[in-house]
Amino acid sequence: MSSSPSAENYARIVKGLHKTLKLTGRPDDSACLTAVSKNQPWEVIRPVLEAGHRRFGENRVQEAMERWGPVKDQYSDLTLCLIGPLQSNKAADAVAFFDIIESVDREKIARAIADEAQKQGRAPHIYVQVNIGEEAQKAGILPAEADAFIATVRGYGLEPRGLMCIPPVEGPCGPYFALLRKIAERNGIGHLSMGMSDDFETALRFGSNEIRVGTAIFGSR
Ligand SMILES: *Cc1c(COP(=O)(O)O)cnc(C)c1O
Repeated sequence: MSSSPSAENYARIVKGLHKTLKLTGRPDDSACLTAVSKNQPWEVIRPVLEAGHRRFGENRVQEAMERWGPVKDQYSDLTLCLIGPLQSNKAADAVAFFDIIESVDREKIARAIADEAQKQGRAPHIYVQVNIGEEAQKAGILPAEADAFIATVRGYGLEPRGLMCIPPVEGPCGPYFALLRKIAERNGIGHLSMGMSDDFETALRFGSNEIRVGTAIFGSR
């Protein structure tokens, strides 16, 4: 089989994922990989799809629909995750198109998703995004407001399946991953989406169930 850089990178990341799980005594199926295909050309995405991968992350509704819309029906087991900020005027499209929406961080968005889910009879898994390092430029609910927000989301009839975060670039990320885990545990939420190209091994050691890797697979954007 001919190989491409992205397929080779993909194989390496999967190997690293399994190796880290093994080293930390976790079952092989306790974490999965979301390959982040945002801003990437199809030529680098296709080899990863052909290697059998089916779970991809996108940060824009429109871009994801253009990229994946034409091939969605060919791959019935495709899982598409929205990992970027969602505007409420895109909620209808997001609910119709995505399997998972990871960036729920405002009441208005949660309510729009709940309304659309009911209207469309479709219920993507939703995750609450936490601004774990309390950074002004980042999306997400503040850690101190997370418990109340999760309760609000539940009040709309949505059950958050997981929490998602992007820790600060500077400094050790372990404490941020540990904090996300603590928030999840005290709220009875079982799934952690954390860890990217540069920190996924650390995230796995802190209990990540889902790493989101872009550049380490597809190259720089
Ligand atoms: C872009 C992005 C990623 C992937 O980041 P890499 O550093 O390219 O692996 C993961 N999560 C979110 C929310 C992103 O926006």
